Amino acid sequence: MGNVKRIVILGTGYAGVHAAKKLHKKFKKDSNIEVTLIGKNPYHTLMTELHEVAGGRVEQDSVQINLQRIFSGKKVDVVLDEITEIDFNKKTLSSETKTYEYDYLILGAGSEPAFFGVPGVKDNGFTIWSLEDALNIREHIENMFRKASKERNTEKRKRMLTFVVAGAGFTGVETLGELLEWKKKLCRNYYIDEKEVKLLLVEALDKILPILNDNLIVKAEKYLLKHGVEILKSSPITSVEKDSTTLKDGKVIETNTLIWTCGVQASKFAANLGLKTSRAGRIQTNEFMQSVDHDNVYVIGDNSYLEEDGKGLPQIVETAIQTADTAVENIASDILNKEKKAHKSNYHGLMVSIGSRYAVASLMGVSMSGFLAMAIKHFINLHYLFGVAGFSSCWSYIVHEFFDIKERRSILGGHASAKSHSFWLAILRVYVGVMWLLEGINKVKTGWLTDLKIPLFMPDATASATAAAGDGTQAAAATVTPILSSPPQFFINFMHLFRPLGLQFQIIIVIVEICFGLALIAGLFTFIASAGSIFLAANFILSGMAGYDILWYVFACFALIGGGGRALGLDYYVMPFLKKWWNNTKLAKRTYLYVDYNSTEN
Ligand SMILES: Cc1cc2nc3c(=O)[nH]c(=O)nc-3n(C[C@H](O)[C@H](O)[C@H](O)COP(=O)(O)OP(=O)(O)OC[C@H]3O[C@@H](n4cnc5c(N)ncnc54)[C@H](O)[C@@H]3O)c2cc1C
Repeated sequence: MGNVKRIVILGTGYAGVHAAKKLHKKFKKDSNIEVTLIGKNPYHTLMTELHEVAGGRVEQDSVQINLQRIFSGKKVDVVLDEITEIDFNKKTLSSETKTYEYDYLILGAGSEPAFFGVPGVKDNGFTIWSLEDALNIREHIENMFRKASKERNTEKRKRMLTFVVAGAGFTGVETLGELLEWKKKLCRNYYIDEKEVKLLLVEALDKILPILNDNLIVKAEKYLLKHGVEILKSSPITSVEKDSTTLKDGKVIETNTLIWTCGVQASKFAANLGLKTSRAGRIQTNEFMQSVDHDNVYVIGDNSYLEEDGKGLPQIVETAIQTADTAVENIASDILNKEKKAHKSNYHGLMVSIGSRYAVASLMGVSMSGFLAMAIKHFINLHYLFGVAGFSSCWSYIVHEFFDIKERRSILGGHASAKSHSFWLAILRVYVGVMWLLEGINKVKTGWLTDLKIPLFMPDATASATAAAGDGTQAAAATVTPILSSPPQFFINFMHLFRPLGLQFQIIIVIVEICFGLALIAGLFTFIASAGSIFLAANFILSGMAGYDILWYVFACFALIGGGGRALGLDYYVMPFLKKWWNNTKLAKRTYLYVDYNSTEN
């Protein structure tokens, strides 16, 4: 036990999760290293997508990744607890109920909104810094529309329908972008004229999105103005009341909604730990990401303060990930008595979405806007998700952002989210199943189980193809023009490998056709039967035996693949059971190939 090193990470945000995954990778075979990750929520929140929840674009589960999913099968002990105290001398963290010991501590407790002493913001404004915040905003906005629809007092109604976002950094602009899209639906639902709704972006500086170049700033501003947003620059807010917001020039905006995104500071918890802090309560670190007070305490992500080229590292995701990298490398160096490496940032860029269909981005020095910028933002999110929780989390993201999206709020519009009821597919499914079954029975009747019928299996392929055309089973081929007049050479070579087992191969084809037929009729394993049908049809086409009529099997099976068995089929009962079983297997945990199923499925 004396040699065991306990590494405790506090915080399950971008920084903490990345550090834990990296430590697992480094020390998974080392029984002397114990890694514990402590966080107060059972999920990792995708903070960068909170505005989509606040603006009613996606549901809350699209910004949550279950920690159990990320770390099951990993050498990381995930503990759900809220730490209230850290004793750096005793090397312990304590919550209300438990104390945890560490040899190395990685602090990644994140940040919180800064109010800069502006009176009333905290009590009367909304912030967007957690999932709960985003849900509060969403509920409040919908409430405002609901109330306004019943309000006959013009002043009150106007106040309810005026929405102010304070701060024109990426958080503020992204939040406003969602509101300008959502407003259309809300107006429709509550019989409110869109002209009645006022969206304001209020910024203390003389420009919006100061992190971007002027060209992109102009584009973002143009887009906001075009969509009816009023932008007030050089307009610091001096106080916020329940029913109004006052600006420095004395202007009073009558509103019930102020969303404050003006600044961020280290979380109070981190700032008050007694470690040396710097700007906005961020904990001062050296170049190795160690706290300057304790060698065995590393600080990462939004919590940390380190200057590069005279400027503090920005509080963004890339900083969180890169500082976590540095901390883990240096803890490993410390344990292995190697030399530590200084932190070096390597930023790739920033993307700011304004709603679901427009974005501005600066990526590795290249500026872009519109569809391309938005597509890249999705791609980067997918890349991040793949690293955190593999393909299944990417698939969930695609489903949430494209297939389940409402009101056409995606770069693909509503094309990917248009749905047909599986009920109607059930009819098609049974029909395709019957056709395969008849096809299989017909092959049995015409001698496929006893005589060679596939031309490519006959001694002389060309001669036998002619022979086959005259054969009863190939009567169709004689009357129907094949899609390919002769099989491609690669397919001939491939099929010739099976020539010695030609008859057995034929028998398998017949059995498979009958099985696919029965499976489709029963709606059991519809995905496999449909995908298999497409594969089988492709083989008939390549063998030069199939005419154009086979294509309908292919297209029908594409339609069935996505859930043709879920209505009036056995998949309705069997698949939830199998999915649950699969998610608990070691292989699913190791590969992250989880499959989603909703609780109503079992
Ligand atoms: C709306 C919004 C949009 C953003 N958009 C972008 C963007 O487009 N691009 C970008 O790069 N950045 C963006 N950011 C900033 C980015 O999200 C942060 O820089 C990043 O989350 C920092 O990661 P972190 O791990 O340091 O902290 P966090 O992600 O905040 O994680 C901190 C974690 O610590 C936990 N924790 C805190 N205290 C305790 C405690 N006492 N006990 C237990 N657990 C605790 C918290 O629950 C949390 O899980 C955005 C932020 C917001 C809010």
